[in-house]
Amino acid sequence: MFDFSILSLFPNLIEGYAQESILGRALAQGVFGLHAVDIRAFAEGKHRVVDDVPYGGGAGMVMKAEPVVLAIEASRRQFPGAPVWLMGPGGQRFGHGLARQLAGGPGLILVCGRYEGIDERVRPYIDGELSIGDYILTGGELAALCVMDAVVRLLPRALGNAESTASESFENGLLEYPHYTRPPVFRGASVPQILLSGNHARIAAWRHGQSLRRTQAWRPDLWAQHKLSPEEEDLLEQAADVCSSNEE
Ligand code: SAH
Repeated sequence: MFDFSILSLFPNLIEGYAQESILGRALAQGVFGLHAVDIRAFAEGKHRVVDDVPYGGGAGMVMKAEPVVLAIEASRRQFPGAPVWLMGPGGQRFGHGLARQLAGGPGLILVCGRYEGIDERVRPYIDGELSIGDYILTGGELAALCVMDAVVRLLPRALGNAESTASESFENGLLEYPHYTRPPVFRGASVPQILLSGNHARIAAWRHGQSLRRTQAWRPDLWAQHKLSPEEEDLLEQAADVCSSNEE
């Protein structure tokens, strides 16, 4: 089983998120294991102090190295082979490619900071640092949950239908095609006729054309990486303009 060990001062945040919807079902079915580890349990003394003022002065508090390192060492013993990633805005940017790579491993140990961050001397005890974007969160828990959520849905058996990640955004370097469900007309807007045709080959071709079109319009960075085949050139030309609403 793929195990997550998530080290945090607020383990309830982690447990709560994992109880619902697709993650909740996958957890109950044993698709993955989740261990929300309370860093405070590794702090010494009656008050189990986990933070202190920064050397050199300045605002805020810094998480002490020892409880974090003891928690990491305990998780490494429990899940040998699982890499330890610290959540932090200075880290490697998390994305679909890394999610795929991590999902192929034995598990993940994720360390969540709070306050100003963690004493720099934890660095030798981690394998890398992961950022979910260029903004500052109050803690690493949301970042760790993003990583866990994105990795879990790539695990075998996590989603009901094994096909369902195949066409998704980023999987083939393209954004996914648009989705529609009932009713056939919503406030005057109709579902594209072809989706009602029952012709699976034509539907697949239309969807691929939409995928190309959206990626070209919305994500020039991805588009620049995409090598267009002659068939795709035709599909792109035929793709109707259904995606202009998202352009700025
Ligand atoms: N003083 C730090 C920010 C601390 S934010 C700085 O300026 O770089 C507190 C904690 O939130 C961090 O230790 C980290 O674990 C988490 N965090 C904040 N922003 C994050 C981001 N973009 N990605 C991943 N983790 C983040």
